[in-house]
Amino acid sequence: MKNILVTGGAGFIGSNFVKMMLHKHPDFKIINIDKLTYAGNLENLESVLDNPNHTFLKVDIRNRKQIEEIFQSHEIDTVINFAAESHVDRSIEEPEIFLSTNVIGTQVLLDVAKKNWKLNPSDKYCRRFKPGVKFLQVSTDEVYGSLGETGKFVETTPLMPNSPYSASKASADLLVRAYHETYNMPVNITRCSNNYGPYQFLEKLIPLMIVNCIRERELPVYGDGMQVRDWLHVSDHCSAIDTVLHKGSEGEIYNIGGNNEKTNIEIVSVILKKLRKSNSLIKYIKDRPGHDRRYAIDNSKITSQLGWKPLYTIEEGIEETIDWYVNNSEWINSIISKEYTKYYEKMYISK
Ligand code: NAD
Repeated sequence: MKNILVTGGAGFIGSNFVKMMLHKHPDFKIINIDKLTYAGNLENLESVLDNPNHTFLKVDIRNRKQIEEIFQSHEIDTVINFAAESHVDRSIEEPEIFLSTNVIGTQVLLDVAKKNWKLNPSDKYCRRFKPGVKFLQVSTDEVYGSLGETGKFVETTPLMPNSPYSASKASADLLVRAYHETYNMPVNITRCSNNYGPYQFLEKLIPLMIVNCIRERELPVYGDGMQVRDWLHVSDHCSAIDTVLHKGSEGEIYNIGGNNEKTNIEIVSVILKKLRKSNSLIKYIKDRPGHDRRYAIDNSKITSQLGWKPLYTIEEGIEETIDWYVNNSEWINSIISKEYTKYYEKMYISK
């Protein structure tokens, strides 16, 4: 592993991952491509834009010609695919771009990676390729659908996605699996629970609530607020991906989670308390259609087989995250001044 193609590296998790890898592995070259959609932000990468081991290129993962050129000129040996349309609410409004980016985009990357392999001369049917490019697909626990009050997702839980977003991610997972089965491609799929932490785009639950609290705006809570999510700090997610990259067995899926189940309303209450704001800011709104009730991850495969463990408790992580948003008003204002305000008004004001 030397030349790693990271896609979607200007988004929330991708940018945290790129910074962690450059710091942790000074012998790796990171080629970071991102289309810079509304969710991509070069300010997330400010501290590493001049790093000689980091190359940023504004590229759409669906652009096969550009991806092919990048593979050749940078001798890519590993792909980590974060690039995606990632917001469930937007997928309900406009599913098409989710299929195009999350499914077709993944297929283009897989195909170009496959093209860069050498045929294996020891295979007399030449149906199998000599593994060259390793492919790690960053997926989500949402592909499993929703749980009842008990139980946890394991890697063999059937896929039962309920939103256009999760259906597109599940489709991409199946393609990645198929490239392993058909072409012997060395792949891994990671399925992580809900992330939070610095640089998360403001539309997602935790930053939305923190920023609205800071600005003393209403806190829109879907339905009864009793939906359960299994929260993981972004740096723990990034360290888990690094672990799978180094130690994961070919073709395996790894669930990633930190045993931090909380209801949405519990999260909102922690934020209100820490920022010393009144509960009267909470406004219950009509529930999201098809809203999954509960997610919970069984992380025993990655912890027992690969030795990964999360470092943050939700209490420490959320406290640190609130402080980060309080101290980064410039970053927040630059997002509010762009497409986000229009989206916010459409979702929460005009309805
Ligand atoms: P994000 O929306 O913050 O970032 C996605 C990035 O992908 C953006 O920078 C965007 O510009 C880029 N992108 C979108 N379309 C592209 C295209 N066609 N070509 C190139 N770049 C494109 O999302 P995130 O929260 O950082 O999530 C990253 C990945 O992790 C996604 O694949 C998501 O499904 C997965 N994931 C997220 C979570 C979570 O809680 N956020 C949990 C599990 C898995």
